[in-house]
Amino acid sequence: METLVDRINTDTPDKLIIQKYADIIKNGGLVAFPTETVYGLGANALDDSAVRKIFEVKNRPVNNPLIAHISDIGMLETVARDIPSGLERLFAAFWPGALTVVLPKRAAVPLSVTAGGETVAVRCPSHPVAGELIRLSGVPIVAPSANLSGRPSPTCFEHVYTDLYGKVSGIIDGGRCDIGIESTVVIPKGKSVLKILRPGAVTPQMLEKCGFEAHVDKNVLAPVKDNTVVASPGMLYRHYAPRASMEIVRGDDDDVISYINEKIVQSGADGKIGVLCFDGERELYRNAFVIEYGSADNPLSLSKNLFAALRRFDEADVTKIYARVIKPCGLGLGIYNRMLRAASFNVTSL
Ligand code: AMP
Ligand code: MG
Repeated sequence: METLVDRINTDTPDKLIIQKYADIIKNGGLVAFPTETVYGLGANALDDSAVRKIFEVKNRPVNNPLIAHISDIGMLETVARDIPSGLERLFAAFWPGALTVVLPKRAAVPLSVTAGGETVAVRCPSHPVAGELIRLSGVPIVAPSANLSGRPSPTCFEHVYTDLYGKVSGIIDGGRCDIGIESTVVIPKGKSVLKILRPGAVTPQMLEKCGFEAHVDKNVLAPVKDNTVVASPGMLYRHYAPRASMEIVRGDDDDVISYINEKIVQSGADGKIGVLCFDGERELYRNAFVIEYGSADNPLSLSKNLFAALRRFDEADVTKIYARVIKPCGLGLGIYNRMLRAASFNVTSL
């Protein structure tokens, strides 16, 4: 398939360029586009056959539902109904932004979007290109991450190009994504209570400041046991994963650094061990393929670089990755949630 590609200035997006991609969406095609979290693979959320193409192209399990993206709150009623009162202040505080809310679905939303369920996940992205694409399309757009299922999510054009060029109708190149991990997903549970199904840049602390009790689902940091029914099917899968097996190493700095160095030596120190560490630590590891993914004091720098780092380990063909993490609170909770799945929950605590 021919794939239309344009580079776009994200501060002042050219409407004439975006219009071409909006026409593709209106005609039932697929377009990958930048958002503030990660790149999304978009289709008209109200067009069942367009939505099904997303599952085929990504090879995504059909029981993993999609998020419908809207350009403004006025579009919410096209996908959701019976919106609980009290959520207005949630929308006012976090939309447009990296928060997805699960709500009762309208009949117009095909069951392919919701994996057969009666609820739909909705988000209003803040990225100017995403907003303009939805506005010009005139329809809500479902947009899972624009990667092949299982791979690390795409946070720049090159990642999308690698996974999807030739398989979709269009890719909009908007440079790098600011946040780098997917949105926070919440489901309202009675008045003023939200359950966090997937952590992200909108943290439990931010939700509480807005007047909500925020409960983190137990499967955010623990693997799903066989046969349990999960609140969010995305929790089920090995996800975001590099090809090499990954081990998360937690503990005091000195202990973690000596443990990883011992492992490098034991493996033959042939440069095929990957180390994912913090800025300024490169020199601490010898004969390994080392990536510094950001500052331990600046979680946003880590979330922004995490998936790109995992893809670089793939390119370098490392056989094993040892990874350092920050504490699972604030944005760190979202980062840790992605790393646990990338590592298939393989964690060594020293
Ligand atoms: P992705 O599109 O790859 O960012 O994944 C979207 C995620 O949103 C899914 O994996 C689910 O975990 C979550 N999600 C979407 N729709 C629903 C829903 N109706 N109920 C609960 N979780 C949902
Ligand atoms: Mg995804």
